[in-house]
Amino acid sequence: MENSAVTVAVRVRPFSAREKTEKASQVIFMNGQEMIVQHPESKQSYSFTYDFSFCSVDDGDPAFASQKTVYQTLAKPLLFRAFEGFNTCLFAYGQTGSGKSYTMMGFEEEAGVIPRFCQELFIKLASMCHVEMSYFEVYNEKIHDLLVTREEPHQRRMPLRVREHPVHGPYVAELSANVVSSYTDIKVGEPLGNKQRATAATGMNDKSSRSHSVFTLVMTQTKTEFVEGEEHDHSIISRINLVDLAGSERCNSAQTSGERLREGASINKSLLTLGKVISALSEQALTRKKVFTPYRESVLTWLLKESLGGNSKTAMIATVSPAGSNVEESLSTLRYAQQARTIINVAKVNEDTSA
Ligand code: ADP
Ligand code: MG
Repeated sequence: MENSAVTVAVRVRPFSAREKTEKASQVIFMNGQEMIVQHPESKQSYSFTYDFSFCSVDDGDPAFASQKTVYQTLAKPLLFRAFEGFNTCLFAYGQTGSGKSYTMMGFEEEAGVIPRFCQELFIKLASMCHVEMSYFEVYNEKIHDLLVTREEPHQRRMPLRVREHPVHGPYVAELSANVVSSYTDIKVGEPLGNKQRATAATGMNDKSSRSHSVFTLVMTQTKTEFVEGEEHDHSIISRINLVDLAGSERCNSAQTSGERLREGASINKSLLTLGKVISALSEQALTRKKVFTPYRESVLTWLLKESLGGNSKTAMIATVSPAGSNVEESLSTLRYAQQARTIINVAKVNEDTSA
């Protein structure tokens, strides 16, 4: 067993075309690993430190963080942990338009974390490995399989349900799991590419800004050992969750009580509960007392239970805009990320000797 804090990184994206035409001022700056926010109105200055700070504002800057840098610094270590048999999780948090999907998925020549991770996984993969891929989204607390093509007439339209396995914990019942044996089997860019195009056409308040997408790989590595002349198969299983969360703009406080709770149906229950779970886990780590963690209050937190304060090596990337016009959202994202940093997970190698 290994205790480890959630690794937290922040990434500042370049100015958007719109921010450029509006001549938005830059309010987020990097000073080594320190991130500084200068509030354009109050003139107050805020300082934050994380495990990693990625500045992707200007590609002429010597400290510019590319897609490759982000992958290598934050995600590649998780790939190594997965091969050791640990569960791993990376989730992207931030306001709509701040760069979550760009970071997680990216585009062809600017591939993000998920395609790079998959590509490298198959390069390292030994012959005695078995990998299954699942991909689903949580929208309005309902789970939809993203690997089922819409055109199939026999497709289930009913949302899928969460079940809890006594040993392995919560899972999505009847979710498709495709066996993948090479990077080309994955083709995950395709459905997401379409989704991104849909986003561009419909603007900010569309479905994709309010849905969470969860890309999962379950990797089973089998090794044969000889003990006293007898053959024993020994497997280690790692679950990898790569999560692109809904836009954080509607519940931007980790203190999820009072006003925000009363906004009712307009808020995203899963994201709100994620805030509560992070608060509870962070309080637990600080006070060293058991604090009730409301995992089961939302679909997403229930499914990510092991990734949050449980058996997983977990990292978070919080994305922000550099512009003054988004300063309040950026500050709340930065505070949220700071709180997530205090969470302690207890990860262990998942061994199965029953085979
Ligand atoms: P989100 O998923 O958080 O809503 P997106 O990832 O869709 O945001 O990013 C919004 C826009 O900004 C997209 O056009 C995306 O290509 C661009 N973008 C975001 N981050 C970066 C980055 N680091 N470098 C270049 N373009 C980016
Ligand atoms: Mg997105």
